[in-house]
Amino acid sequence: MTEIYTVHHWIDGAEAEGSASTQPILNPATGEQVGTLDLGDASTVDRAVEVARRAQRQWAAVSLSKRTQLMYRMRQLMIEHTDEIAQVISREHGKTVDDAKGEIARGLETLEFATSITQDSKGEFSANVSTGVDIHSIRQPLGVVAGITPFNFPAMVPFWMHPIAIATGNAFILKPSERDPSTSNIVARLYAEAGLPAGVFQVVHGGKATVDALCTHEGISAVSFVGSTPIARHVHETAAASGKRVQALGGANNHAVVMPDANVAFAASQIASGAFGSAGERCMAVPVAVTVGDVHDEFVAAVKAEAEKLTVGPASDAATDMGPVITPDARERVISMTDEAEKAGATVVVDGRGLVVPGHENGFFVGPTVLTDVDPELRAYKEEVFGPLLVVMHVNNFDEALELVNSSPFGNGTAIFTASGHYARRYQEEVQVGMIGVNVPIPTPVGYYSFGGWKDSLFGEYHAHGPEAVRFYTRAKAITERWPRQDEAVEASMSFPTH
Ligand code: NAD
Repeated sequence: MTEIYTVHHWIDGAEAEGSASTQPILNPATGEQVGTLDLGDASTVDRAVEVARRAQRQWAAVSLSKRTQLMYRMRQLMIEHTDEIAQVISREHGKTVDDAKGEIARGLETLEFATSITQDSKGEFSANVSTGVDIHSIRQPLGVVAGITPFNFPAMVPFWMHPIAIATGNAFILKPSERDPSTSNIVARLYAEAGLPAGVFQVVHGGKATVDALCTHEGISAVSFVGSTPIARHVHETAAASGKRVQALGGANNHAVVMPDANVAFAASQIASGAFGSAGERCMAVPVAVTVGDVHDEFVAAVKAEAEKLTVGPASDAATDMGPVITPDARERVISMTDEAEKAGATVVVDGRGLVVPGHENGFFVGPTVLTDVDPELRAYKEEVFGPLLVVMHVNNFDEALELVNSSPFGNGTAIFTASGHYARRYQEEVQVGMIGVNVPIPTPVGYYSFGGWKDSLFGEYHAHGPEAVRFYTRAKAITERWPRQDEAVEASMSFPTH
């Protein structure tokens, strides 16, 4: 048996030992404990904020070019340590090593965007707006900001936040998921190696007590959150009530519409990858396909074939396409939703419930599952499953498809598979969703655009990463200047100044 490691907080540039309570870290492929996590509380957050406040004042005075150079060094270190980080992600999360490398690469896009902060944080200038009067605007850092992140992308989602927060001159405190916390400590170590001053990037671990302390601490100016909708709503309400700027990205139930003119084989392979990649544990996963008109039977047969092709197993096996889900509860959710749908008359086209991976009988595995004839009132359709379960709904025409998609309380991502520019264009115009794919199943915007859903998938005004993140982590000042000659006679006027 391998030795169980301990993950501590990272405060003031070093591992901070000592914690009131701990929690086991499990390997989802074996069900075994691999590590122990220190859990923080309000006093841990106090300590981190005190250090961050001091560090931020000095960091904000560091020149833009030095901050940019730091980001280039960090990018290089992340590339050099990709294999190490991918192994850690696979061990604690369960996703394949290639998938873990993919999320690191996508996270680095935001860091690459942050290397151009010299461009993106520029203000504006207008000369002679009134005679002899100029105006310019600048953006300044907020101070100490916090990020609270989910288990499903332990590298990428924090990277949506900290490179831009830091490049714009803030100090950043990360509270990663308790399920796969080790990646964040490696990132902290690499920032230190890249030359980031102690206290500018810190990691505090924990659950509700730590999150609530971050949301209410008077020394924190803004909170970025990514996770499930109920917690997103809680964080948004709590942090906003404490006067903070908040962006809280929530859950999803993304639909992919398959039009009668679509290339069915292509749509089925893309939707299977959206539904079962990373065991369906992506906020941009595709748990619902909506077939329009007479394409239904052909699509169901094609997606069944795709699901049955997949090899489910541990990330350590090179043949694995799909790993385990994160916890026994997550596995149970897929199974119970399928049981409930079957009892209510749904057809189980592909059944993942009984799957056993030889040699990994205690792992949290559930196979790809495909359901049709599902009552839209059932949990399998209505709720976010966050597991490898695809529900295929059937409608008669485009308008019914649009109505079904728009009736969801979520609005994170969606896709349409079609050969028709007319319907693709109408879909983009009329769908109530933040990110749309046309013949692209997981339309996650690249790092230099911003990422965010509508409705219950995002609370707050700002989307994550890209240009909106620069605005989120900074605030504006407008400066109006006049430089009269010392001997210039000025007549006072009591009227409101016009130009
Ligand atoms: P989660 O909401 O359980 O946890 C997210 C964070 O909140 C974690 O850091 C966790 O420690 C903390 N947390 C959990 N319970 C809390 C409580 N009661 N009070 C305060 N804080 C609490 O989410 P998860 O299971 O880690 O991740 C999966 C969810 O994240 C899914 O709903 C998925 O759709 C969503 N997600 C959304 C996006 C997006 O961009 N919209 C991206 C990734 C994941």
